[in-house]
Amino acid sequence: MNFIGDIKSDLQKIKSTLPTNVTLVAVSKTKPNEDILQAYNAGQLIFGENYVQELVDKQNSLPKDIKWHFIGHLQSNKVKYIAPFVTLIHGVDSLSLLKEINKQAQKNNRIINCLLQVFIAKEETKFGFDYNEINSFFNTGENLKYPNVNIVGFMGMASNTDNTSQIKLEFETLAALYKSLQQKNNFNILSMGMSNDYDLAIKCGSNMVRIGSLIFGNRNYSK
Ligand SMILES: *Cc1c(COP(=O)(O)O)cnc(C)c1O
Repeated sequence: MNFIGDIKSDLQKIKSTLPTNVTLVAVSKTKPNEDILQAYNAGQLIFGENYVQELVDKQNSLPKDIKWHFIGHLQSNKVKYIAPFVTLIHGVDSLSLLKEINKQAQKNNRIINCLLQVFIAKEETKFGFDYNEINSFFNTGENLKYPNVNIVGFMGMASNTDNTSQIKLEFETLAALYKSLQQKNNFNILSMGMSNDYDLAIKCGSNMVRIGSLIFGNRNYSK
């Protein structure tokens, strides 16, 4: 799929290729409100952000029916800023973070939906739990200790490589883990796939894709 450069057309083109069971998160990090409004006016209500301050500013100034997903690495001391409104936190990568989300959710009288981030890539740089940690988390009942958190599934990022069979293997392994725990724990979200690999992720069982640059163009971090 190629990026055309018109947010509405790019969004619609991507949406037309997604199976009906797959939810699109439009990743708007670093992008201005005007860009988000273009997508919003074309019918997109779910947006993903990586930076807490940026997310809070956008939530304050953009339409209130937008559903904001936090998709980046979340620092525990910043959970309080997004706890009042965030719809889904994708990147829960430690028990201490989970504990803090539970605490802030309680303060806000909310139950916050979360995805545990599972480490599937070969690189050392990606955050997340490994497979053994995930299994023991659910098998030991640790998952029941956070009443104000609703763990609805997993999120994973594949290795940043051109090796398609490597990426496929990583997605398939996470999908298998998801399936093995899905029924017992009422999971309904497997978040994997970005602009470069979402087709493959869907083939491997993803039902939530996080797409940024294919909708909004490349990001400029130097601004
Ligand atoms: C930035 C980001 C995306 C979107 O990446 P694109 O390649 O622009 O689609 C998806 N997921 C996470 C966790 C991200 O940080």
